[in-house]
Amino acid sequence: MTGAEHTPAGASGAARRIELTTGLARVEERIARACAAADRAREDVTLVVVSKTYPAEDVRILADLGVRQFAENRDQEAAAKAAACADLPLTWHFVGQLQRNKVRSVLGYADYVHSVDRVRLVSALSAEAVRRGRAPLECLIQVALEKESGLGAARGGVAPDAVDELADALAEAPGLRVAGVMTVAPLEGAYAGSPGAAFERLGEISRGLRARIPAATMVSAGMSADLEEAILAGATHVRVGSAVLGVRPALG
Ligand SMILES: *Cc1c(COP(=O)(O)O)cnc(C)c1O
Repeated sequence: MTGAEHTPAGASGAARRIELTTGLARVEERIARACAAADRAREDVTLVVVSKTYPAEDVRILADLGVRQFAENRDQEAAAKAAACADLPLTWHFVGQLQRNKVRSVLGYADYVHSVDRVRLVSALSAEAVRRGRAPLECLIQVALEKESGLGAARGGVAPDAVDELADALAEAPGLRVAGVMTVAPLEGAYAGSPGAAFERLGEISRGLRARIPAATMVSAGMSADLEEAILAGATHVRVGSAVLGVRPALG
């Protein structure tokens, strides 16, 4: 890369840098306060910035500000952005619903997949991880707490009572590591409007998983609206988009 193509152009680039500096500082402040309130060490919580819908230029600015962990939810966008930032020491997390025909592409850039939610995905992930001869793919089991209320999971995820089966399948699969659990606070069902209760339930599920697989310590929970509740309930990774980068214009 020449460098020039990535240099933010003129005043708008400088203005964007100020916006992102401010957004990041606010989120860092929220995380620090939440850790203090929960009597947890700041380094026990990792900020993963969700860069979906925002350009690689924003990722570059955030990387320059010290962010190393980024997440995306759509393969096509993620693959292009990761490629555009391949010269940076970044770690990419895939957090969107994953189709088996995207597995090959996703493993080209992602070190973490937070959205493993069916046994059928496991064999595809395993085969591709082995084919690449890469470090084990860190797999998080996405839990859909709304399924406890008999609802479907529009955003993916397994019912809590299916976590063990999926964990066992992941644990037996070559090339994969069971890293932990992930959830998105439900908009419907018993936990609607109560992200704190949802994240406490995820914490219980995490403890159950760790009783079987002690190394599966990751708890990915909390977004812009509810990262404090997640940290209080034991999240190790918060996935924050709009509070750092701004409100996304469209669905994403
Ligand atoms: C978009 C997204 C986030 C971040 O959401 P914000 O509300 O913008 O912080 C977190 N997790 C997943 C799975 C997402 O798709």
